[in-house]
Amino acid sequence: MESTKVLLLLLAIQNIVLAYQVRYDNHAVYRVTPKTRQHVEVLKYLEKEGWIDFWTPLRSNAYPVDIMVAPGVKRNLEIMLEDYGIDTTNLISNVQEVIDEQKGLTKSRSLDWNNYYTLTEIQNWVYKLSENYVNIVTVDNVKSYEKRNVTIVKVSFNSSATEAVFIESNIHAREWISSAVSTYILSEILNSTEPRIVELRNKYNWYFVPVVNPDGFAYSHEHDRLWRKTRKPYGGCFGADPNRNWDNHWNEFGADDNPCSEIYSGPKPFSEQCAKNLAEYLTNIPEKIRTYISFHSFSQLILIPYGYTTEHLENYDQVYNISFNAAEVLKSRYGTSYTVGTITDVIYPASGGSIDWAKATLHIPISVAYELRDTGKYGFLLPPDQIIPTAEETIDSVLYMVEESQYL
Ligand SMILES: [Zn+2]
Repeated sequence: MESTKVLLLLLAIQNIVLAYQVRYDNHAVYRVTPKTRQHVEVLKYLEKEGWIDFWTPLRSNAYPVDIMVAPGVKRNLEIMLEDYGIDTTNLISNVQEVIDEQKGLTKSRSLDWNNYYTLTEIQNWVYKLSENYVNIVTVDNVKSYEKRNVTIVKVSFNSSATEAVFIESNIHAREWISSAVSTYILSEILNSTEPRIVELRNKYNWYFVPVVNPDGFAYSHEHDRLWRKTRKPYGGCFGADPNRNWDNHWNEFGADDNPCSEIYSGPKPFSEQCAKNLAEYLTNIPEKIRTYISFHSFSQLILIPYGYTTEHLENYDQVYNISFNAAEVLKSRYGTSYTVGTITDVIYPASGGSIDWAKATLHIPISVAYELRDTGKYGFLLPPDQIIPTAEETIDSVLYMVEESQYL
């Protein structure tokens, strides 16, 4: 009897833990523009005190930054920002409301890009592809910290292809649009009859890693929509930023030693299994990778290496021109504007990211990151009805880049 009670209690606790949901009721998102060095310091202080979360990175003064604010401090924060003369615009008045609206949508069983899908749904879709396209689609897995699969899909229409394109997404968990776009591109590469795509899939083998950080991604679906990092425990906090964890100028810039920080770089390079195992996989790919693309959100940027220096290194000029033109191509579909430049020039110095490691270690001619839609209206919570237009405009620019990569 006693043991039954204990068992029931344990089951109840387990259910509570499983059902645990971080809520963002009445959390607001503001765009603030610090105009002086003092303003920047005020914002840094507020983040340290836990009053605000940065949705976009804080740069120097004069650059707007998007911050999320908890309801308890909203009023005081507004007064404080006004006292300091920091310009403030309200972008989202209730974050939870936006999350709930998107959760309520009914979705089809297989990916149709009218909705966001879970890790299991994406992986099942990928396995189906390998059954339906025998000898063309192969699936490999490496492991994450929590022993989930980091699924790698290879599309090969030409068994003698010696060059490849590599596309990864959702290294940051909450950036759901990134895997929605990469899976859309994967589907187009497989199914399209457009001569341009047919040519590129015959010329290159295409690799896709829809979810680089499966532990964080699953957590963002099940417990906390705004989770960014991995889920490895570090003291009282969880996770490192897997895009500050690659072994290239690790922890030099734009990272934090505090395990509770959103940009914690981890205790050492490649401390995060998903990044380490993916890097190992990349090192062993037999083809020469000519284009490496990492999808993120948000801000509408095409970012070029490197994040550790202000210098424009290696083939920067060529890659800048190609990326600039790719942004024009992207814009020509729906008018969406992108800014192009190195990580250091466009955001701030931030090292240890995947595109820097790929460029430096594997000498890939084009290695870039996209920060996809939007510019802050919804931020990480981009509505599902924007998935297809985002994917369509993005694939236009990706195809252009891949075509141009042959000249580098
Ligand atoms: Zn990101």
